[in-house]
Amino acid sequence: MLNTPPRLRFKKYGALIALSASCRSTCPRARVGSSLFDSGKRVAATGFNGVPSGQPHCDEVGCVMVNGHCNNTVHAEKSAKGTLNGRKLPGGYVFVTHRPCRPCFDEMVELEVAHIGFLTEYRPNDDREYIEKVCREKGIEFEKLPFDIKDLLKELLTFHQGPGGLLVQKPWLTISDETPY
Ligand SMILES: [Zn+2]
Ligand SMILES: [Zn+2]
Repeated sequence: MLNTPPRLRFKKYGALIALSASCRSTCPRARVGSSLFDSGKRVAATGFNGVPSGQPHCDEVGCVMVNGHCNNTVHAEKSAKGTLNGRKLPGGYVFVTHRPCRPCFDEMVELEVAHIGFLTEYRPNDDREYIEKVCREKGIEFEKLPFDIKDLLKELLTFHQGPGGLLVQKPWLTISDETPY
């Protein structure tokens, strides 16, 4: 038997796609990414926070701050939804790097998804009661994903150091706990 690392579990896969999408963010206030899946666990859309196309990026001209938020950007979840051309994702899944804000949460509820997971808390008390109430009513699972970002990246690295992996020749590459973020 080969010593094969197991393939990524679905929720880690969704989280890593959201994390990858966040690397396209152009707002230095928060690098947010999202991934949307249908009920069959097929990816339907990805998004990141950034200015509407044609506008100058926050990274270039600075953010427009209103009440502690950057008002310049389209949020990652809304941006992903915009590519669906009105298609809904009943029973589907949403993964976001940060806890969704209320307007984005509402956009995801409109899609009829059944699961919303995020990697990092962000303003955790904003609209908490509202979000919990809607989730109860609609049977939506809303969770902070129990994954450490460094562990997710380690798992990716380990997988690709196994049989058939892209880094199989590079077993010395590691992310140690002592490595600073
Ligand atoms: Zn910004
Ligand atoms: Zn939002």
